[in-house]
Amino acid sequence: MSSFPASAGRVRDSGRASRDRLLALRECVLCFQPYGFRATWHHLIVGAGVPRNLDDDPRSLVRAVDELEEARLVWRAQSEDYAARRRREKADGRRDASRADHWRSWAGLIAYCPDFEKHPTERLAVVVRRVIAAYESGVDPLVTCRACGSSPTTDAPCPSCGVDPAGPAASRPGIRVRTSYRWRAVWQRTAR
Ligand SMILES: [Zn+2]
Repeated sequence: MSSFPASAGRVRDSGRASRDRLLALRECVLCFQPYGFRATWHHLIVGAGVPRNLDDDPRSLVRAVDELEEARLVWRAQSEDYAARRRREKADGRRDASRADHWRSWAGLIAYCPDFEKHPTERLAVVVRRVIAAYESGVDPLVTCRACGSSPTTDAPCPSCGVDPAGPAASRPGIRVRTSYRWRAVWQRTAR
C-alpha cells in the first residue's frame, strides 16, 4: 500500500487523469478510514460533491482529500502524544499498554459505521476529535455515543449517527448484505 502523503499528492496533481486521481483518493481512504472504508468513502464523495463524470469538477477530488487529511492530522497528533507518553511510562518501568488504550492501535478506524450510508455528517475532523476525546475520557459507549453524544438503547449501531459502539470487530452481517447492492451506485457516483 502506498503512503497517505504520496497518494494525497497524486489526488492534487491536476496534470493527472481524473480517473487516476480518484484511484489515488481510494488509496488515501485505504490508509485512513475512521468510519470504515465504505462509509468514509461515501461521506467524502457525497460531501465534496464528486460527480459521476469526474472531469465536470476535478476540484471536488481535492476537496475530498483535504477533508480526509484534516481529520488524519487530528489522529496523528493524538498518536504522537500517546507515543511520547508511552516512552515516559516505559522509562518508569511500565512495559504494558493499558487496555483502555487499545483503540489507539486501530489505525484511526475509531468510529466504524456498518451501514455505509449512515454515518455522521459533520466534518470528519470534528467527529474524529470528539471520538478521541470520548475514548480518552472513558465514556461508556452503551450510555453515551462517542460520536454524537446521544444515548443508544441497545448494543447496536447508534440510531442517530450510525457509529457502532462495538467498533470494527462487531459482526453485523445483516447490514452488510442489505447495503451491498447500493455500493455499486456509490462507487459509480450515481447514488445521491
Ligand atoms: Zn451516535
